[in-house]
Amino acid sequence: MRPNLHIFMTTTFTESGLRPELLSAIQEMGFEQPTPIQAKTIPFLLSSEQDLIGLAQTGTGKTAAFGLPALHLTEIENKQTQTLILCPTRELCLQIAKDLNDFARHLKKINVVAVYGGASIETQIRDLNRGAQIVVGTPGRTRDLINRKRLKPNHIKRLILDEADEMLTMGFKEELDAILENTPDTKQTLLFSATMSREISRITSTYMNNPEQISVSGRNTAADNVTHLYYMVQAKDRYEVIKRIADINPDVYGIVFCRTRQEAKDVARKLMTDDYNADALHGDLSQAQRDEVMARFRTRQLQLLVATDVAARGIDVNDLTHVINYNLPDDPEVYVHRSGRTGRAGKNGISIAIIHSRESRKIREIERISGLKFKKENVPSGRDICSAQLLSLIDRLDKVQVDEKEIGPFLPDIYEKLEHMSREDLIKNFVSAEFNRFLEYYRNARDINVLASKRGDERERPARKERRGGDSGFSRLYINIGSTHNVTPARLIGVVNEALRSNNADIGKIEIMKKFSFFDIEDKLDDKLIRELQGKKFDGTPILVEKAARKDDHRSGGGGASRGGASRGGATGAPRKRRAPGEKRKRR
Ligand code: AMP
Repeated sequence: MRPNLHIFMTTTFTESGLRPELLSAIQEMGFEQPTPIQAKTIPFLLSSEQDLIGLAQTGTGKTAAFGLPALHLTEIENKQTQTLILCPTRELCLQIAKDLNDFARHLKKINVVAVYGGASIETQIRDLNRGAQIVVGTPGRTRDLINRKRLKPNHIKRLILDEADEMLTMGFKEELDAILENTPDTKQTLLFSATMSREISRITSTYMNNPEQISVSGRNTAADNVTHLYYMVQAKDRYEVIKRIADINPDVYGIVFCRTRQEAKDVARKLMTDDYNADALHGDLSQAQRDEVMARFRTRQLQLLVATDVAARGIDVNDLTHVINYNLPDDPEVYVHRSGRTGRAGKNGISIAIIHSRESRKIREIERISGLKFKKENVPSGRDICSAQLLSLIDRLDKVQVDEKEIGPFLPDIYEKLEHMSREDLIKNFVSAEFNRFLEYYRNARDINVLASKRGDERERPARKERRGGDSGFSRLYINIGSTHNVTPARLIGVVNEALRSNNADIGKIEIMKKFSFFDIEDKLDDKLIRELQGKKFDGTPILVEKAARKDDHRSGGGGASRGGASRGGATGAPRKRRAPGEKRKRR
């Protein structure tokens, strides 16, 4: 039986009892005080062999919370593997190994080896052969190395499952089972997870023995620094919102979260085509491509990383200004996780959800589960954006470094040429030369906000009125029921939702006539809806639905109509220069 020790907290690293070599390393790294999860976990692990569940998100300092005790407890002269850390992705694996090596910089004889797929197994085997007291691995590669008898976990003292929920979501259950079979019963098992989901409860009961639970109260303390906003638009305007966010925040540095690889690819491709400083990170990229994208993002050569949740795991960047939810995840906890990527290390951050009119329910669900509060904001108008860009331009002008030596020889001619202009005209002309195309782009920008109805959700959508049949992305359908059948827009929407067994279909303009009606529906759903409604009745009337002929489309122009606007300058605060029309777009 293991003792069930009372958990005490340490308020300083010095009193935690960690070895002096570790204390000097973390002091050099600038860690002054333990974070809440460290304050609870470090003393516990130094004094107990009881299993432990740590509920903490990325960004709370959990790597040091388990890493420092693991290093402290390592028997340096013993070359066997004593700690095995499993985590879901290569990125996280490398990050943990790097953190541990940083902590161990004064403990020369400790070897930390990272093993993960997509890299030479031979090199990893050579590293293991040198004697790795701590191994950090992804489940697939770890199992492979155990099967080849290159990694021997039969003497480990502790097993650490980091981001355990994610390992299960990614389908590593079989690998985990196989790895665990090869580990001794006497080991201490530590499990870290952002959430206590049903899956986690399942693995704690399978893999753990009377675990103690530690959680960071009030979630991630960093979350206090995050403002949560949402914009409500039609589904087809999601992309336009990303552009406006980037345009009103010229120094944006953030992650755009997408639900699928395809979505991440599409959004990133569009942003790059429109000359934004963006790229994609998803599972279809080769490891080398992912490393390259991440390196550019870390060094801020990339401002917007368009990523799936899985690919974004393990990204450890502290000063993101924005997290943008291109689509909300189904699981509210995933939203909490995403938003925790910003507002870290004492900085403020903004997490934005782009939702369509029927997703306010999801916002409320996140608020309920997490205790976070969202603020509904209007998508910036063209005028707001122009004003922000103009200020940023003036700021750059004010701060520009003038190279007197280089520019000096040209100045006399320039002064002579501009002699006739007043100071005011000069400023006006310089600013306009830089800014005119931008103004042009946003001159007729549409208001893309959609208002929720008074009932607090959804049905009435003023923007629908603006829509003409033939909107791109929408199909116009005819249905043989109208006002004489007591059809109302709400009842019609009900018919559609019921047939599609979903509340998420984007429905556009509805025209109720006497004996029939027309309505717009997002075009990827039209065939399905026609199929589903076949044979159905409305108050006893057999329903007939078919595609209607399109009317002419006279949509007013607007922000998303044509490009020619803001170029996103490249790296590291270099002045942004807009691409002139016809000028070739710079590719990386
Ligand atoms: P993690 O949650 O382990 O990914 O850590 C998030 C970030 O916080 C990393 O950049 C750590 O280096 C940093 N960090 C962890 N613990 C501390 C601490 N006690 N003081 C300052 N920074 C820390």
